Amino acid sequence: MTDLTRLQQADKAHFIHPFTDSKSLGEKGTRVIERAEGVYIWDVQGKKLLDGMAGLWCVNVGYGRQSIVDAVSKQMQQLPYYNSFFQCTHPPAIELAKTIAELAPKHMNTVFFTGSGSESNDTNLRMVRRYWDLKGQPNKKTIISRHNAYHGSTVAGASLGGMSGMHEQGDLPIPKIVHIAQPYWYQEGGDLTPEAFGLQAAQALETEILALGEDNVAAFIAEPFQGAGGVIIPPSTYWPEIKRILAKYDILLILDEVISGFGRTGHWFAAEYFDLQPDLISIAKGMTSGYVPMGGVIIADRVADVIKQQCGEFTHGYTYSGHPVAAAAALENINIIKQEKLVEKVGAEIAPYFQQALQQLAEHPLVGEVRGLGLVGAIELVQNKAKRQRYPSNIGVGTWCRDACIAHGLVMRSVGDTMIISPPLVITKAQIDELIEKALLALNDTYTQCLALK
Ligand SMILES: *Cc1c(COP(=O)(O)O)cnc(C)c1O
Repeated sequence: MTDLTRLQQADKAHFIHPFTDSKSLGEKGTRVIERAEGVYIWDVQGKKLLDGMAGLWCVNVGYGRQSIVDAVSKQMQQLPYYNSFFQCTHPPAIELAKTIAELAPKHMNTVFFTGSGSESNDTNLRMVRRYWDLKGQPNKKTIISRHNAYHGSTVAGASLGGMSGMHEQGDLPIPKIVHIAQPYWYQEGGDLTPEAFGLQAAQALETEILALGEDNVAAFIAEPFQGAGGVIIPPSTYWPEIKRILAKYDILLILDEVISGFGRTGHWFAAEYFDLQPDLISIAKGMTSGYVPMGGVIIADRVADVIKQQCGEFTHGYTYSGHPVAAAAALENINIIKQEKLVEKVGAEIAPYFQQALQQLAEHPLVGEVRGLGLVGAIELVQNKAKRQRYPSNIGVGTWCRDACIAHGLVMRSVGDTMIISPPLVITKAQIDELIEKALLALNDTYTQCLALK
C-alpha cells in the first residue's frame, strides 16, 4: 500500500472534513498536502501548486517563515499556556493588544481575544447586546446582516451569516437576526447600473430598520467586501449610503474583517479603504497568517468605555482567549508585515499589478466579468456575456475550472461558477504572471469542456 493510499483510507474511515460531502470525498479521495514554502504548496506525491487562496485567505506572509517558528518555539518553552481570566494575563497578550490598537483606526483602542473568526462574531453578538442593555435600551437586540454573507460556522456565526445551505442545517438563524439583500450587482443587478443598484441594496437597510423599529436594532454586520460569498465588491454608492443610515438611526457597525484585515486591501484594515468608522471589527485569519489559530474583536472607544466602566463582570471568554503561543505568532507575523512593508507594497505595487493582470482574463469567451480590489479577485464564468447568463448550475462549470486549475498547478476556489483568488501578500510580479498563465490554461480547458456540451 502506498503512503497516499494508506492516508486516504484512514482519512475516509476516521475524519469528517469541514464543508465537505463525505460520501463523494470518500469516492474521489483527498488531496494530501505535505509541505509549503513561500506561495507554493506540495502534495504527498510531490505535485507543486501555486496557492492562489493563501490557504483559506489567511497565509498573508507566505509559508515557511522561520521567525514565526522561532517566536512560537521560544514562547512554548517559556510559557506554553496561561489564561487571562481571574486577574491574570501574560506579556504576549498585552503586547499584542497594544500593537493591534496602534494599527487599528484611531477611534479603536481595545481588543478582546478569541480563537477564531467565528468566535469573534459570537463575541460581537454578546457584546453589542450587552452594550445596549448598559445604555438603557434593552430592546435594541436585533442584528441585521445580509444574504450570502459569511461570518463563520458556530451557531452565532452561521446565524449572522446569510448562507441558506448553512441555515438549513441546525435550525438557524437563531432569533433576532435578520438578513437583507446583498450588493451583488453582477448576479442581482438586473438592468440597473452598478451605482443605482448599490444605492438600492443599501436602502434595504433603512427599510429593514423602519420595519423592525429603530429602537429594536442593535447592529448591522457586514464584510467590507464579501469573501466566501464570491468576492463580491459593493458598488461605490453602497458604503456611503450605509454609513448615512447607520448614523441616522444610531445603529452599531460590526465590520467583519476576518479576510480583509492585515493588509489584503493595501491597508491594515479595509475600514480605511472604504472610509468606515466601525464600532467593532472581527479579526482572525491574517492575524497570525494561519500559523496558529487566533481571532479577536477590535472595539471602538464608544463601546469599550461602556463595557469597561459599567458592565461589571462581562461573563464571556474562551479558555484560549489571548493564548500566549498564538499571540507570539501574531506579534511576529505583524512584525514581518511591518519590516517588509507588505501593506505599503501591496497598496502601491502588487495589488495594482495583480488587478491589471487579472483584467487580461476578461476577454476570454467564458468570462463574464473580472473584478477585484487589493489582493482579492473574482472571475465570473458565463454562457452568455452580454446577458450575464450562467450555465445551468447542475453542470458545475466552476468545479470543472477548479479541477483544471489544479491540473495546471494552481489553487483557485470556486463558489458556484465564480472563481475566486486571494494569494499571499508576498506574491511577486513574476508569480502573478505565473498565476494568470495557469488560470488562462484552466479557462481554456474549461471552455473546451463547455463547447462539448452542445
Ligand atoms: C473565515 C471567516 C470567518 C470565520 O473564521 P473561522 O476562523 O473559520 O471561524 C468569519 N468571517 C469571515 C468574513 C470569514 O471569511
